[in-house]
This record gives sequence, structure tokens and C-alpha cells, in this order.
Amino acid sequence: MTIPFAGDTVDRAGERRTQPEWIEAAVASPEARGIVVGRSGVLLDGVAEAASDPWAPEQRTGSLGLARIEPGERAHVADPVAFLGVGADGAPLFALEAGDEDRLTDLRLAASVLSPEDAGLAAYAAALRNWHRSHRFCSRCGEPTRSGEAGHVRVCANGHQVHPRTDPVVIMLVVDNAADRVLLGRKADWPQRRYSALAGFVEPGETLEAAVAREVLEESGVTVTGTRYMASQPWPFPASLMLGFEADYAGGEARAADAELESVRWFSREELATAAGEGHDSPILLPPRLAIARHLIDGWLGARASQIKPRDR
Ligand SMILES: [Zn+2]
Repeated sequence: MTIPFAGDTVDRAGERRTQPEWIEAAVASPEARGIVVGRSGVLLDGVAEAASDPWAPEQRTGSLGLARIEPGERAHVADPVAFLGVGADGAPLFALEAGDEDRLTDLRLAASVLSPEDAGLAAYAAALRNWHRSHRFCSRCGEPTRSGEAGHVRVCANGHQVHPRTDPVVIMLVVDNAADRVLLGRKADWPQRRYSALAGFVEPGETLEAAVAREVLEESGVTVTGTRYMASQPWPFPASLMLGFEADYAGGEARAADAELESVRWFSREELATAAGEGHDSPILLPPRLAIARHLIDGWLGARASQIKPRDR
């Protein structure tokens, strides 16, 4: 299963996009198309019905597409040029700034109705435009910046360069395979009964493994070992990259150890399997399929099941 926002298949054409003539020709091409994004979401080629809970797991995927607009259309802003890449059909793709926020669909809702490829493209376009919107001035000298390299760098009058920014977040499933259980936590403002994997921003000078160990200890009072990378997910709210890990329980008593979570506890395989089956009598709600946390939980349930089977025979 593709992780939502992780499915973009566009060829980013990293070497060609730095050639001004090539980009000029791409912009002028009758094949060129723009993905329209703004502060409140992305433009679809239809209307996505807003569910009462946009995170609801029963949402279908693939029933709508991204609107693909001709870049010259005046309803949207093409300046600066923000080149995404070349699509599977050979068309150059750009991220356009929405002229009208009212017609946009929230990205999380969009991800539930778009194909994995379109959801990934929407995340890419949103992240790139978010960055242009918030980096108009140089963080070193305060001078205005202008866009270069087809929208993949900004430069000020003093020649300082800034590149599109991505903020790494570790998200980790703490597993205690000896007891066949997993550690999850919940924030007070989440929907009732929802639990998810622990997570936090990577700090300057920190390795990913150290960030995993620190966040788990801070949030749950538990120590971990054997941290292993599982998968990643672009999370353009506004510029994160979720880095998914599993880590083995090493010791400590699980409890909500800081103000960030209101509850931290272990869940047995049976509890998680029931919740994954979306039984309405389940005492907990798992994270929605949109979230990488759900992918980690489903992976643990599935991997262990396939490991156990041969031994049982
Ligand atoms: Zn500067």
C-alpha cells in the first residue's frame, strides 16, 4: 500500500530545470499544466464531499483528480515559476498559487479522494508554494529574495541562497515483542478513544536514532533500543517529512511523562487487531489510513502474523 502523500511519480528533472532556456520552453509549451495550491488546500477537478471527520478511515481513494490548469490562466498566479517536474504523459508540471482560496479542498480531505500519484503531487506542490510564500526575505540579511532555478532556490541581493526547507519529524512504534504489545499515546484534543504512535521534531545536531530515543523517553518514560527505519511520508503542513521507525522496548514504566500527551499505554495484538478491523465496539480508534502511524501499526500486525504462521503449522 502506498503511504498517502508519498506517491508522486513525477520526474523532477533536476539537471534540466537549472537551464533557463529549457524552463522557458517548458513554461511556453502547450502541454504545460499547473497544479493550483493555496493556504487552504489544493484545486480538484470536482467537489470532494467533506466528511464529518476528514480523517475517517472509510473514505474512498481515487474518485477525483487534481485540476490541471494551463499556467497562463489569469485566475491563478504563476509567479514565481515553481516547476515540479515532467509528468508520466510528458507534460511539464508547475505549482500555481490560487487566486481564489474558496475553491480549494483541504489537503487531508484531498488525499482521501485522489489517486496516490495525485495526492503525492498535491503534497509536493503545496510544500513548494508554502516555502515561496514564507521565504520572501533573506534570513541572513533581511533583503528581499527572488526565485531562481525554476523555483527551487531563492537568492537575495547579497547573493545569499536558501533552498526549499523540509523539517524532519520522527514517528515511532515502540514494540515489546516479548509481550506482543505496542506503546501508543493520545493527545487531549484528538477525537475520543484515538491513540497513535509517539512522534516529535528532530533537533539540531541530533541523529534520527537519538531523536527517537529522546522523544520516547520524554513522552512516555520508556527507554528503547534497536531503532530501525521503516518508511517516510511527506507531510506538507507546512514542510515536514515524517520518518517512520520501529524501536524495541528496553525498560521503564509507561506513563504520560510530559504535558504533550494525556495518556500513554501498551496495547495488545488483540486490541490492535480489533481496532484495525474498525469494529465499532473497539475501545480505541487507530490513526486514519492517511497517517504513516497507521501504516506502522498495520505493518507490525501483518509482519508478525506472517512470521507466526509457519511456526504454528
Ligand atoms: Zn541575504
